[in-house]
Amino acid sequence: MKKNIWLSLTAVILCTACSTVGLTGRKQLNMISEAEILSASQTEYQSYMKSAKLSTDAQATAVVKNVAQRIASAAMNYLRASGQEADIANYAWEFSLVEDNERNAFCMPGGKVVVYTGMLNLIGNGTGRDDELAAVIGHEVGHAIAKHGNERASQQLLANMGSTVLGAVVANKSEATQQAVAIAYGLGAQYGALLPFSRKQELEADYIGIVLATLAGYDASAAVTLWQKMEAASTSTTAEFMSTHPSSTTRISQLQKDIPKVKATYKGTYGKL
Ligand SMILES: [Zn+2]
Repeated sequence: MKKNIWLSLTAVILCTACSTVGLTGRKQLNMISEAEILSASQTEYQSYMKSAKLSTDAQATAVVKNVAQRIASAAMNYLRASGQEADIANYAWEFSLVEDNERNAFCMPGGKVVVYTGMLNLIGNGTGRDDELAAVIGHEVGHAIAKHGNERASQQLLANMGSTVLGAVVANKSEATQQAVAIAYGLGAQYGALLPFSRKQELEADYIGIVLATLAGYDASAAVTLWQKMEAASTSTTAEFMSTHPSSTTRISQLQKDIPKVKATYKGTYGKL
């Protein structure tokens, strides 16, 4: 009897927690309210920023902020135009360049975008710099607006779900959520680096990234040269951006298929930001 109640309660949660990723139409399970995710992410972000060292290179910081602002504007324009503005109603965008040799970047739910100097150094100062940076930031903003953090935290909760945890989520208690978000984002000192997203989420973020880059007026083809640079330089499999799931080869061939279609569909659509 107890098991039946448990199962039907779980079924109710799963049904009501289903949502759809706007740009791809993929169904996902998000058990945690956006308000909870934003609040937990804000806590994680503030804690990370306390120990992070902002770049003192004003010129490089300005480059990152400029590209990130354009990508964020493209994301907001797209979500507004497609009736999904509620998703970003409580976003408070922030763009930072942080001193860190790791070739990485992230965007927390709520719009906190961080690019590491290691990533900027990999990209270099060539003519495609801003386009490649747009590919990086578009990818990370893609994870945020597709709510991949909520999805991963929900999976984390499901994996560890006892009735107490489930009850806490249903009651919107932030402790269980905070814990799941902390694990999902891995930004705390305990983890040190961002954990990789799933293969499906990575490919989805790649796709959304090239859409956002195109909308923002950048050349989406730079996603390919970016990944070629990443592949050539890759030594670690732990960092989010260097996730081996999927492999660089898989991502590059998928991007090469998607880029012409994305350019044909979105180029110039939201050109004036
Ligand atoms: Zn990613």
